[in-house]
Amino acid sequence: MTKKKLLCTTDQFQQLLCLIKNDAYKLLGPTIRNEVIIYDEIQSAQDLPIGWMDEQDPGRYRLKRRSDQAYFGYNLGPHSWKKYLFPPSEKLFSARKQENGMVVFQETVPPVEKMAFIGVRSCEMQAIFIQDKVFNHKLAVYKQYQQRRDNLFLVAVNCTRSVNTCFCVSMESGPEVKEGYDLSLTEIINDKEHYFVIVVGSAKGEFFCDQLDLQPAEQTHTQLANQLIRNNEEQMVRQVDNGRVHAMLEKSWNAKRWDTVAKRCINCANCTMVCPTCFCSETEDKVSLDGTHVDRWQQWDSCFNLSHSFVHGGSIRESAKSRYRQWLTHKFGTWWDQFGTSGCVGCGRCIAWCPVGIDVTEELRELQIECNENNS
Ligand code: SF4
Ligand code: SF4
Repeated sequence: MTKKKLLCTTDQFQQLLCLIKNDAYKLLGPTIRNEVIIYDEIQSAQDLPIGWMDEQDPGRYRLKRRSDQAYFGYNLGPHSWKKYLFPPSEKLFSARKQENGMVVFQETVPPVEKMAFIGVRSCEMQAIFIQDKVFNHKLAVYKQYQQRRDNLFLVAVNCTRSVNTCFCVSMESGPEVKEGYDLSLTEIINDKEHYFVIVVGSAKGEFFCDQLDLQPAEQTHTQLANQLIRNNEEQMVRQVDNGRVHAMLEKSWNAKRWDTVAKRCINCANCTMVCPTCFCSETEDKVSLDGTHVDRWQQWDSCFNLSHSFVHGGSIRESAKSRYRQWLTHKFGTWWDQFGTSGCVGCGRCIAWCPVGIDVTEELRELQIECNENNS
């Protein structure tokens, strides 16, 4: 079915956000704090990082003023939408010992809250689909995640520029948002005009658009939007050989490259914290001093933490090398066996936010060269 395409002025975009908010959605979107783009609650379009863009390289992130007033002229910051659907810390249940000695368990049921994510990039949309597979698995459903997912409104934004760390094209996860959104926007800004081409992706999205006097987009507008996205595809500098990397990693166990990268990796776990698909967690029981009450909390964990591989008597991945190898081979290799996709969407966050500038695309390339040489 052909999706409805509409034109939206910046004033109408502001009204659109008001309509979503007035429908009891909590507006969550990009804003600037501590000189980075982060996701937080916003009240209106004025809270967006208007007129800012980002520059990213291995181990480097900077915000810079743009020469225009683009609303979505940046790419990505260290936060991902994961923090709202799979919070860094969440109470799962409590247990209380009664006077008669019985223990009563009480599951924590988070309040139903309608959230609207404003400005979801294509790679981030794919990351949400990946986490859907993890948390809504036939073996186990993370109920709280599912509840949040069911009450979500997604306003996606196509990327018409990328930063040096992006490689979504080679991971087939961007820069154009193809599905799963309620509304998708392409921002068009030049000396004369500033507007959005909106594609309506759901009945709820249509419900909001119907309340605004939006004109249908002409072919010239949609062609221009497509051209800007295609231009961006051609400019992307990094890539991964996604079709071959899984098979290559299966043969890489003894590669010398693991030793090389382990000399640089400080096992800080930054890469897993910023990654929009990493889903490891641990649980901690917080017990009252008198021993009558306990709360069980779930919190993000990382395969870079020594304790994460602790099984009866010790950790099975004691060296930095084994932990880096575990992360990379799972993310780009065995994730396919588990979930039928790569665990990477090419957002590049792990490259920019690695304090020593380790670049996964470079590591995979070097491993590929070494594995090819060993096989020749
Ligand atoms: S592995 Fe790196 S590039 Fe891939 S999704 Fe995670 S943070 Fe993004
Ligand atoms: S690869 Fe970089 S970000 Fe990840 S654990 Fe090692 S040093 Fe930290």
